[in-house]
Amino acid sequence: MYDLIIIGGGPSGSAAGRMAGQSGLKTLLLEKEKIPRDKLCGGALSGRALSYLDFEISDAIHEKEISGMRVCFAGRSIETDKGHRMATTVTRRHFDNYLLDKAREAGADVRIGEKALDFREGADHVEVITCKGSYRSQFVLITEGAQGKLKDRIRRRDTKREYGISMVATVEADNAEIDARLPALLEIHLGIVHMGYGWIFPHDGYYSVGIWGPAAYITDPRRVMKRFLRDNGFSGEYSLKGHVMSMGGIKRTLVGSRVVLGGDAAGFADPFSGEGIAFAVRSGQIAAEVIADILLRRNEESHLKEYEKRCYREFGHTFKYALSSSKIMNRFPRIFFNILTRDSEAFDQFLEIPNLKKQYLSYLGWIIHRIPRLIIN
Ligand SMILES: Cc1cc2nc3c(=O)[nH]c(=O)nc-3n(C[C@H](O)[C@H](O)[C@H](O)COP(=O)(O)OP(=O)(O)OC[C@H]3O[C@@H](n4cnc5c(N)ncnc54)[C@H](O)[C@@H]3O)c2cc1C
Repeated sequence: MYDLIIIGGGPSGSAAGRMAGQSGLKTLLLEKEKIPRDKLCGGALSGRALSYLDFEISDAIHEKEISGMRVCFAGRSIETDKGHRMATTVTRRHFDNYLLDKAREAGADVRIGEKALDFREGADHVEVITCKGSYRSQFVLITEGAQGKLKDRIRRRDTKREYGISMVATVEADNAEIDARLPALLEIHLGIVHMGYGWIFPHDGYYSVGIWGPAAYITDPRRVMKRFLRDNGFSGEYSLKGHVMSMGGIKRTLVGSRVVLGGDAAGFADPFSGEGIAFAVRSGQIAAEVIADILLRRNEESHLKEYEKRCYREFGHTFKYALSSSKIMNRFPRIFFNILTRDSEAFDQFLEIPNLKKQYLSYLGWIIHRIPRLIIN
């Protein structure tokens, strides 16, 4: 009998596996794919995400250091550089593999190529049925990502307004060209889709190019993506891949009696920026901490519901305001762009959000106070 079975070996599952192993829990981590596996992602790892890891990432995983951002709208652009590292870019097949090694290193039993098919919650254990057998555990953490189906047993399915659709292409290029086009910058394009945006992120030998928007508003993502590529000078034939993402800021049930959802399976992605790796990592860690507290410290007060509370307290409450910000700024991209253009401090402060120095709520309050001055100017 295991203490904890983790279903899914992305950043959330690996972070949980590492924390559980370090806490002394007998842990099994199941990953359905052969590793290393690809994962559709912009691959931008924020300062916040890096701060949650209890180890340095090896130099071989870091691709481009990011210290600024370029925001584009209707043929115009504005950029700012903070002069210090805000983020780094990674290729997910390498980054995720590295995190899995860190879970193994802490003692988690990692099984690759083993898909969890089902689970049954009993009074004192959970049984997990996989393509290779079945296992019993005291608790189960589902970190199967946004596209898995097991999570639907715990929470209701999202409506089209509650999840987003992305389309992504990998555009190979010389590093010299990439560094000249995006010198330590992430590039964001506002107004590409209603309530969404496009991105071009620099990597080692390629750009990650993509579009994102709420499912309710994107009717033909492939067409939008092709136009976005063409408009930005990428004229080759690219393989376009789609992915869904649950938006944070929506009330969802995250725990059953012995089962917990983490990372994208829980809908822990910033609904404005699309950032998810940081919250995947942190929610995995919190799940392992709460379960260790229940099993090892036999803390009478501790309960799985504590997991929901802690996630909300640490980062979940910010999603509500990120969702409001997204509704305002993505609905009126021209106004948002004009504010950033006319008020360099507004742009500068905006970039402090992923670095945890500013929260959406305080940013919104701060900017609303500056609007009259901007109008007068
Ligand atoms: C197009 C796109 C771009 C993004 N760009 C960024 C970005 O630049 N920066 C950022 O911070 N976030 C980004 N995100 C969000 C980020 O990718 C996710 O938030 C993050 O991957 C969530 O991690 P996770 O561990 O919860 O899930 P995943 O990374 O999806 O991992 C889930 C794992 O579970 C495995 N699995 C699934 N089902 C089973 C099963 N039944 N049994 C066993 N294993 C299973 C899968 O194979 C996978 O390895 C992006 C998302 C998308 C869709």
